[in-house]
Amino acid sequence: HKEIHLANRPEGMPTNDDFNFVEKEIPTPAENEVLLKTLYLSVDPYMRGRMRDVKSYIPPFELNQALVGGVLAEVVESNSDLFEKGDIVSSNLSWSEYNVADAAKLQKVDPTAAPITAHLSVLGLTGLTAYFGLLDIAKPQAGETIVVSGAAGAVGSIVGQLAKIKGARVVGIAGSDEKIDYLINELGFDAAVNYKKDSFKEDLIAALPNGVDVYFDNVGGDISDAVMKELNKHARVTVCGAISSYNSVDGDIGPRIQGQFIKTSAMMKGFTLGDYAKDLPTGVAALTQWLQEGKLKYDETIVEGFENTPEAFLGLFKGTNLGKQLVKVADP
Ligand code: NDP
Repeated sequence: HKEIHLANRPEGMPTNDDFNFVEKEIPTPAENEVLLKTLYLSVDPYMRGRMRDVKSYIPPFELNQALVGGVLAEVVESNSDLFEKGDIVSSNLSWSEYNVADAAKLQKVDPTAAPITAHLSVLGLTGLTAYFGLLDIAKPQAGETIVVSGAAGAVGSIVGQLAKIKGARVVGIAGSDEKIDYLINELGFDAAVNYKKDSFKEDLIAALPNGVDVYFDNVGGDISDAVMKELNKHARVTVCGAISSYNSVDGDIGPRIQGQFIKTSAMMKGFTLGDYAKDLPTGVAALTQWLQEGKLKYDETIVEGFENTPEAFLGLFKGTNLGKQLVKVADP
């Protein structure tokens, strides 16, 4: 079986050469361990940060070691009472076709609650990020205007729908007309603006007749500067991600609109999902209920084949995904 190693620390936009496929023996599980066959891998923008050798909330990836990310896997051999052959689990594991893992650290997935991939998307890291970042930090109220950037992606598409559930007016920002159409006609956003058009700033202002009460920021940079100029009194900004700067060699210097925060007494708060470790079951329960009530839709862009994992990861920075980007490695 193969593992995917980090071959270099990329400068700027990573390329396929920064990833190395390494042939390994399938490992043998010890006492209380299980052998897992990878079914789906999650590729996530934050993994770009771990490719840099800098201090952060999570240690950097090691060179010439397997990358680690969200994995959905099937138990194919069990030396633990906690799991049987055939069980499906979700965990942070190596980007490899097989893993051995300590059974006590794995989360069992209920394949009857939702399609199993939902545990890497709407019911996993991304749905929970949307849930806590929006509802705990920004707390949108009925009638308020919320703007979400990266709106057609995994986190953004859930944020917009949760804000609609709370009765807010939702404006999305995304990078293609196809995504704009999807946000308005499939997800029920009130308006959406394509940031790649020359008319972006005018289009944004036209979509915001009542200014901005909540901004859920997934991208940072110029897009966020343009939104934050429109903040209303007591606006709240959730700083979730800054993907526009993840491949920048100099880093980003934003935000550059402090004056607007002073004038409006607005609040800006960053977070990682780790802040909510104890509350995750509450988030999963709420998201599951909205899913089952048909109030929440989610889309996944699934690339087939373990060998296409780097390509799927790189696609996040080109906007090739609609909803959550996953890689299908094997059938259960
Ligand atoms: P997405 O599914 O949103 O994929 C990334 C999207 O970002 C792309 O589809 C693309 O869409 C957009 N994008 C890429 N480059 C740029 C750019 N230069 N400027 C503007 N948009 C760009 O990923 P996720 O939903 O998984 O993550 C969204 C954000 O949330 C990321 O910044 C991520 O790091 C962050 N995050 C934070 C977490 C936390 O705990 N704080 C947890 C999970 C995610 P388009 O076509 O519109 O350009």
